[in-house]
Amino acid sequence: MGTYAVTGGASGMGAATVARLRAEGHAVITVDQRDADVVADLSTAEGRSAAAAGVLERSGGRLDGAVLAAGLGPTNDPGRVHLIAEVNYFGVVELLEAWRPALAAAGKAHVVAFSSNSTTTVPAVPGAVVRSFLAGDGRAAERAAARLGAKNAPAMAYAGSKIALSRWLRRAAVTADWAGAGIRLNAIAPGAILTPLLRKQLDDPATAGAIESFPVPIGGFGEPDALAAWVVFMLSPAADFLCGSVVFVDGGTDAYFRADDWPAAPGLLRVRAYLRRMRAFRPFPRP
Ligand code: NAD
Repeated sequence: MGTYAVTGGASGMGAATVARLRAEGHAVITVDQRDADVVADLSTAEGRSAAAAGVLERSGGRLDGAVLAAGLGPTNDPGRVHLIAEVNYFGVVELLEAWRPALAAAGKAHVVAFSSNSTTTVPAVPGAVVRSFLAGDGRAAERAAARLGAKNAPAMAYAGSKIALSRWLRRAAVTADWAGAGIRLNAIAPGAILTPLLRKQLDDPATAGAIESFPVPIGGFGEPDALAAWVVFMLSPAADFLCGSVVFVDGGTDAYFRADDWPAAPGLLRVRAYLRRMRAFRPFPRP
């Protein structure tokens, strides 16, 4: 049995994942701003370092896996844009960086971070939002999101934070520090899942219409426990060959909007860069 850290373990898909892991007999260390083993506010740098340290202390410096589910939705409150940026991007990246040695110590660890299908279904997310996150500048990301107007800023910050997170994860996943240390870094990209986060948006007249009319080919909303089953699978040895993937579980919304965008193989302009990457590749020694 393994030891897993789960952020956002007090609610929704994080809580459903904790329940499944504990039912399988694993030890789980939860992180959340309430009802958790490690209570911390991931919207501040101090909260994030306290969360990272609290988990490391409880795990004895060895983690078989981690699930980064804490997150804020794109509520229509411009005052929350800063919090969305801090929790959804830095609340994942900083914790993973702090936990990396403990994950490496397990020999073969699995990580699942929560992305979102908003990464591909929210149109016109400014590249500056994503670039600012990746450069570590949350305030600049916030400003870039605000350029599209106060009304759009939360959605842009939300989708931008999840795009940046997915990119950071895919870049890191294939490096010596992660793949080379036996750590499988992957993301799940849910669609509309009926959790308290989605209920809040359904209860808000400003956002309810957009959610209810959003195309879901399967129909309805996803169930948190069904998503947790995917996460637990991605943490299992059956997923050992999964590395740097963003797994969409969204009832078909992503396919509906952009069936023909896949595959995105390198076009003529990117062939040189592709060949450079090909020549530069050196396999990591197998543990
Ligand atoms: P949820 O609101 O039920 O759970 C999120 C948890 O994160 C809560 O327990 C909350 O307390 C915690 N959290 C929020 N801010 C925090 C902070 N500052 N410090 C510590 N903990 C904090 O939401 P959910 O729907 O289960 O979402 C889980 C993840 O999935 C999130 O990252 C969300 O962005 C993502 N997601 C959700 C949906 C959806 O439709 N529900 C869709 C796509 C992606």
